[in-house]
Amino acid sequence: MLEVQNLKASMRGQVIEPADADYDSARKVYNGMIDRKPRLIARCADVSDVMAAIRFARENELLVSIRSGGHNAGGLGVCDDGLVIDVSPMRYTHVDPKSSTVRVGSGCTWADVDHATHAFGLAVPSGIISTTGVGGLTLGGGLGHLTRRYGLTVDNLLAADLVLADGSYVTANEWQHEDLFWAIRGGGGNFGVVTSFVFKAHPVHTNFGGPMLWELNQAPKILDWYRTYIKEAPDVMNGFFAFLTVPPGPPFPEHLHMRKMCGIVWCYTGDLEMADDAFRPIREMFPPALDLCGPIPHPVMQSMFDPIYPAGLQWYWKADFVNEISDAAIERHVQHGSALPNMFSTMHLYPINGAASRVGNSDTAWSYRDATWAQVIVGVEPDPAKRDVVIDWARSYWADLHPHSAGGAYVNFMMEEGDDRVKASYRDNYGRLAAVKARYDPTNFFRVNQNVRPAQAAAGV
Ligand SMILES: Cc1cc2nc3c(=O)[nH]c(=O)nc-3n(C[C@H](O)[C@H](O)[C@H](O)COP(=O)(O)OP(=O)(O)OC[C@H]3O[C@@H](n4cnc5c(N)ncnc54)[C@H](O)[C@@H]3O)c2cc1C
Repeated sequence: MLEVQNLKASMRGQVIEPADADYDSARKVYNGMIDRKPRLIARCADVSDVMAAIRFARENELLVSIRSGGHNAGGLGVCDDGLVIDVSPMRYTHVDPKSSTVRVGSGCTWADVDHATHAFGLAVPSGIISTTGVGGLTLGGGLGHLTRRYGLTVDNLLAADLVLADGSYVTANEWQHEDLFWAIRGGGGNFGVVTSFVFKAHPVHTNFGGPMLWELNQAPKILDWYRTYIKEAPDVMNGFFAFLTVPPGPPFPEHLHMRKMCGIVWCYTGDLEMADDAFRPIREMFPPALDLCGPIPHPVMQSMFDPIYPAGLQWYWKADFVNEISDAAIERHVQHGSALPNMFSTMHLYPINGAASRVGNSDTAWSYRDATWAQVIVGVEPDPAKRDVVIDWARSYWADLHPHSAGGAYVNFMMEEGDDRVKASYRDNYGRLAAVKARYDPTNFFRVNQNVRPAQAAAGV
């Protein structure tokens, strides 16, 4: 029998039980495919609440999941029959313009951070949908429009405060708990509940960016050009390749509505005066069917795709890292990209070279610095009855492209895919991660995640 009143008495935030009116909305995550039923949801208002929730879970031997933005594809923010530590109420930002840093409560979304930093002409590298949580995106790595210019989100993480499995509170940075700081830069939610992050921000205000789209029959030529171009492009030029369906509304012209196309979503962060020169070669070589590339304030760029993807759709992801895109891979891409099952499903190739590749494979837990792209095939469907269609499409696309990949995948683009996939994603860094896990979480208390199992030999170090 759980003494839930004890937890309620020790927390400022709300504790939600199955009988409560808001239980069903509180257990929902972004992916509508996930339907988990926790015993309790602890909405933590501060660090003290997180400590109380961890203590309660330990005393009652409850399974624990950690939730920030709730965007994880596999639904790893929520668990069945356990306690959800929901940090979303811890939503604050503090920008220090003198040091170009920002402290971020772990309940923030990236929209919160972009809003706060933009006023100072600053930005932190993050993802391409601003409703995503800072917590999960950061701890898994974080890639998006600024990756080639300023690296992954973790490359801009200066410090994090965490409550560990034993209830203690630590700050991890370059000179305190360095091993933990190494591990949380890519190792996900394996090591403790992060309550706040400190990031380095960069002078980014108005980009020159947006989508450039071409007819599908141009895809082989565009991919052929892109695979070479992006390897040699200056860091100020970011561009991810996509197969997509044109949404049926503004700003897209009516004659393209619902047309399957290929495209590159650009984000140029160099001198705006030089932007037209930078884009001239591609515009002249392959005149796009639609060119929405122009000056765009950074927070607008960051939230450009938000309206297409409201919470609650069915999502199924398959991912890989990619070193080279061969002619054979291009052929497979075009075949599956031409068969997008609906308007929401897509395939993205995110470049992870440029600044992100100048960090060593073992400098942080994120081990694939030598790969050129993080590829993600995303089946998205509003109707739960049709979810198998997008699952089948994503699986067969992935199965055909996987032999052309580098092996592992970006953990934040994976569903729950088992130990071997997690190991393949961390490669040589897995052993060190397991040792750090053994030191900070020897009983694998935090295991609802892309799980790193504690190394036996290192336990208790
Ligand atoms: C629409 C969409 C777009 C996306 N675009 C991008 C993108 O452009 N770039 C990119 O890199 N990723 C992207 N992602 C993937 C995203 O990084 C992951 O889904 C990530 O897990 C989301 O973080 P969250 O906090 O919202 O998730 P949650 O579901 O809340 O958490 C996911 C996991 O992260 C860990 N975690 C979260 N918060 C904490 C915390 N405070 N302390 C410790 N552990 C924690 C836990 O293990 C938890 O299970 C996207 C996802 C979606 C759904």
